[in-house]
Amino acid sequence: MAETTAKEGKKQLDEGLERGMAALTEEKIEKVINRVLTGETGARLQAYVETCIHCGLCDLVCPDYCLTWGDGEEGGKFERELMGVDYRYCKGCLRCVESCPTGALAKEKETPGLADRLRVPLFPGLIP
Ligand code: SF4
Ligand code: SF4
Repeated sequence: MAETTAKEGKKQLDEGLERGMAALTEEKIEKVINRVLTGETGARLQAYVETCIHCGLCDLVCPDYCLTWGDGEEGGKFERELMGVDYRYCKGCLRCVESCPTGALAKEKETPGLADRLRVPLFPGLIP
């Protein structure tokens, strides 16, 4: 609960929080910021189509229709097969990773330029 300390004339928000904040030094904060800026990026989706069973669950949950499908064949029958992900539209929500029953979709650390190199265009004839 917020209290006003008569001595300092300022509000005390929370004793534990204020104690923790007081222990933070500029050096500690700078170290963390530098580590994030130089060594970390977001998570992205990686597709391992070799272990995909083309069940389509990922496509059902993707909010942006980023999964790319092509024609294939299984046991002599026509089927649609997952070709990959068009990373231009993928927002990295990873809902597809959570839905995949085989682990063909996985969360991986993003590195600069990787998404561009791996993307499989949704409409290769229309948009290169
Ligand atoms: S991470 Fe999200 S936006 Fe990207 S393909 Fe998967 S479900 Fe779609
Ligand atoms: S949910 Fe997994 S196994 Fe099913 S189509 Fe998508 S990537 Fe393939």
